[in-house]
Amino acid sequence: MTKAGLPAPRKETSSPTSEPIPAPTTAIMTLFAITGVTSHNNSRRGCCENEVMKACLLAAPAPVESNPLRVADLPRPKPAGNQVLVRVHACAVCRTDLHVVEGELPPRKKPVVPGHQVVGVVEEWGPDATRFRAGARVGIPWLHRTCGVCEFCRSRRENLCERAEFTGWTADGGYAEYALAPEDFAYALPEGFGDLHVAPLLCAGIIGFRTLRLSGIGSGGRLGMYGFGAAAHVAIQVARHWGIEVYAITRDARHRQLALDLGAVWAGGSEEQPPALLDAALIFAPAGELVIAALRVLKRGGTVALGGIHMSPIPQLDYNLLYHERVIRSVANNTRNDGEDFLKIAAAIPIHTEVREFSLEQANEALQALKNDAIRGAAVLRVGATS
Ligand SMILES: [Zn+2]
Ligand SMILES: [Zn+2]
Repeated sequence: MTKAGLPAPRKETSSPTSEPIPAPTTAIMTLFAITGVTSHNNSRRGCCENEVMKACLLAAPAPVESNPLRVADLPRPKPAGNQVLVRVHACAVCRTDLHVVEGELPPRKKPVVPGHQVVGVVEEWGPDATRFRAGARVGIPWLHRTCGVCEFCRSRRENLCERAEFTGWTADGGYAEYALAPEDFAYALPEGFGDLHVAPLLCAGIIGFRTLRLSGIGSGGRLGMYGFGAAAHVAIQVARHWGIEVYAITRDARHRQLALDLGAVWAGGSEEQPPALLDAALIFAPAGELVIAALRVLKRGGTVALGGIHMSPIPQLDYNLLYHERVIRSVANNTRNDGEDFLKIAAAIPIHTEVREFSLEQANEALQALKNDAIRGAAVLRVGATS
């Protein structure tokens, strides 16, 4: 790990909330043709003042089967303050993107460019940015920025900041040729990973890692993973590295096979029960009934950690399922410390991600495949030249 992988020093005097986030406005949008995915053939780069970029825009949430993302030409954003402008190489697709596109997360910016597992190189920066040089490979994660001054930000719990901005939801994200991020919230990415393979580490990886840590599981423990998509397929590699036995519970046979390929001691369907009591369980599938299923096979004092941002209602539960100090806890976002710690471990193991590649124009298709459990590992949009 290089020096560049260390957390950036905080700038106590900065005022992050005062920085504008350049974004396509409705007025600007009318100047640029929004094209359907099949008819887009505009030039990739303009010149000088009128440079444009291709981006996938969500005008309003809708079922992903209706192909709500449209490829459009937008003005290339300009970095301000301490922002860096990143030329995007790849952006991994997360279930949270599906929640943004379909409206389970209410719109916070319209239109919005989704995508929060962004890998690319720094091309320009604002007048206050000093951290990265041109060509530095960076990752832009879900936590776009925090206020820096609230009680949560001041107590190492910036993941709970009430004024946080989120990439691809409240600020434009990486389903585009360019994306902006405050330099303090971008990650220097370890070498040794190609662009497509490092992209899923930026949310699936980091959130999976935080979920794993918050479950309290230790070496020699038995861990259940409910849902075996992008996050679980990374978390299992960390768990195995720590000497933890993993039991995978997932409805899709291909996902069960992936779990076994990655070293799970057992994999079964959601109607089955693991053959041993669990010390902890991680739930990555957005189905509330899995909380009850996990509690039924959880040892006394064990924790069920919920890794998703959205979940269907949790059914009524008998107190005796929770008694004996069993804990149900949600996991919200992550701190930059989680990300830095995880990327070090990911490089040391090293973690291998299974990816299925899509083009920017296939973003709807990628999200549909994710919704239908048809992705082995993670879906990743290849945007520009990638390593
Ligand atoms: Zn805050
Ligand atoms: Zn995510």
